[in-house]
Amino acid sequence: MHRRGLRQGDPLSPMLFIIVMDVLCRLIEKASREELLQPLARRALQHRISLYADDVVIFLQPSASDIRITLDILDLFGAASGLKTNVQKSSVHPIQCLDEDREILLNHLPCPISEFPCRYLGLPLSPHKLTRAQVQPIIDRIADRLPSWKADLLSRAGRCILVQFVLTSMLVYLLLALDLPAQALKAIDKIRRGFLWRGRKDVRGGHCLIAWPKVTRPYYLGGLGISHLQFLGWSVRLRWLWLQKTEPNKPWSFFPIKAPYQVQAFFSAAVVTVVGNGKNSLFWSDRWLADQSLEQLLPHLFRAVTARGRKRTVYAALENRSWVTDIKGALTVDVILEYLQLWDLLQGFELQPEIEDSHIWQFSTSGNFSTKSAYEAFSIGSIQFNSWEKIWKSWAPSKCRFFLWTVVHKKCWTADRLARKGLNHPAACPLCDQAGETIDHLLVSCVFSRQVWFTVLQGLGLQALALQVVDLSFEDWWTNVSNRVTGQVQKGLDSIIILGAWSIWKHRNSCVFDGVTPNLPSVVATIQEEMHQWSVAGAQGVSHLLALAAPAS
Ligand SMILES: [Zn+2]
Repeated sequence: MHRRGLRQGDPLSPMLFIIVMDVLCRLIEKASREELLQPLARRALQHRISLYADDVVIFLQPSASDIRITLDILDLFGAASGLKTNVQKSSVHPIQCLDEDREILLNHLPCPISEFPCRYLGLPLSPHKLTRAQVQPIIDRIADRLPSWKADLLSRAGRCILVQFVLTSMLVYLLLALDLPAQALKAIDKIRRGFLWRGRKDVRGGHCLIAWPKVTRPYYLGGLGISHLQFLGWSVRLRWLWLQKTEPNKPWSFFPIKAPYQVQAFFSAAVVTVVGNGKNSLFWSDRWLADQSLEQLLPHLFRAVTARGRKRTVYAALENRSWVTDIKGALTVDVILEYLQLWDLLQGFELQPEIEDSHIWQFSTSGNFSTKSAYEAFSIGSIQFNSWEKIWKSWAPSKCRFFLWTVVHKKCWTADRLARKGLNHPAACPLCDQAGETIDHLLVSCVFSRQVWFTVLQGLGLQALALQVVDLSFEDWWTNVSNRVTGQVQKGLDSIIILGAWSIWKHRNSCVFDGVTPNLPSVVATIQEEMHQWSVAGAQGVSHLLALAAPAS
């Protein structure tokens, strides 16, 4: 090594830094072990120091001697390593301290006393729930991202991607640690919604074609795959409960984790325990003996159990049958019946001392927890959206797929919907001038559109799939014809149906807004030209169809 040390940016330097910081960690641990430092309030709490790069958090009792010793250790470490503590940049955050404790802190520590939340690793941390004012900077930071984007130049489909992969993913790290209050999530949703529909911070109801709860569903449930913040937060934080259960040796794992009641309930429903030695399973609250936890299965008996008894592991409860002596409440008939029921259930059950308990996450095939599986499980019970694969898995520019998504939800601004809202609307279908305009008429029953579809499909030798008189619903027709073909033909057909619907809609808009006269050859020509471009751009299904249709040479 060079005698003047490592240059900044040298790949070795982080390693070296870790080795050096480890010494500080050891010094503090040693002082704690030799009882130079008083134990922290909780019996099991061994964690005295958190290190991340040059951010150090040390947990201390507010006593003069503890502070003295810690400062000495820091001095000693600074003298030996050259890493001196910058007192001006440090702060003290009292946790549950009395006034006299504060007095001691003021007298013995050279750094200022600050209140929570404190900022550590970019997170506002606090032992209390964050207030509105404390959360506001997070919301502002998200809103600040917006003006720099050229929102007007982006289609909704493009903005949808920004919402999901920038606005939403900014939050994942925060949601992992913080339970943001509901109004904060609401405020963030307002920003996401406004940007998606209008490219602005705020938006009125009329600009949003589809309700936000629907937008924030997965594709297969009819949404745009934008994350639902509440569910996202719950599923990333479920990981803590899972780790607490499966890796009980983590230094924080004995902490009571504050999970909302829904999350706790969901977790109990999602995890099944296979008991081995019984040392890492809870007798009453884990699901190990029956389809439910014993707490749920035998509520009367559970109420008669002492507080201490409720926390026993399977091992501890079965040892000397402590679960029996834990029953201290009144022995009502219900309690006795459930008591006998539990005897029956335990009949024949034996611990296997050499096998560890295992916990199985039911929503993934591997049995291991994943945030994705948890997130998806929160949407279980919603109705499947039939057209999702045809829309989102077909080759088509995203603005066209986005349009098809609004078509299938019947949320395009056709005359019928404009009329319902009392807005200006064309009196009859702008393409045929024969019937009232609905989205199904426009794309399916309109004589003009039928002619478009027929000509386009005929050009590809697929005239057998063209619309019949009985076809009245766009979605039904699409499903029907798409199911009649397979493989590359199906892929190509799906792309072409998306292209056709998009082009008819564009033409309709030119007629309504620019006074263009409906023109069949022009629409068909546009579609055929686009088809070739899509094929060049990578739509293999379309290329396949074009190749089939090309006159044999
Ligand atoms: Zn028409």
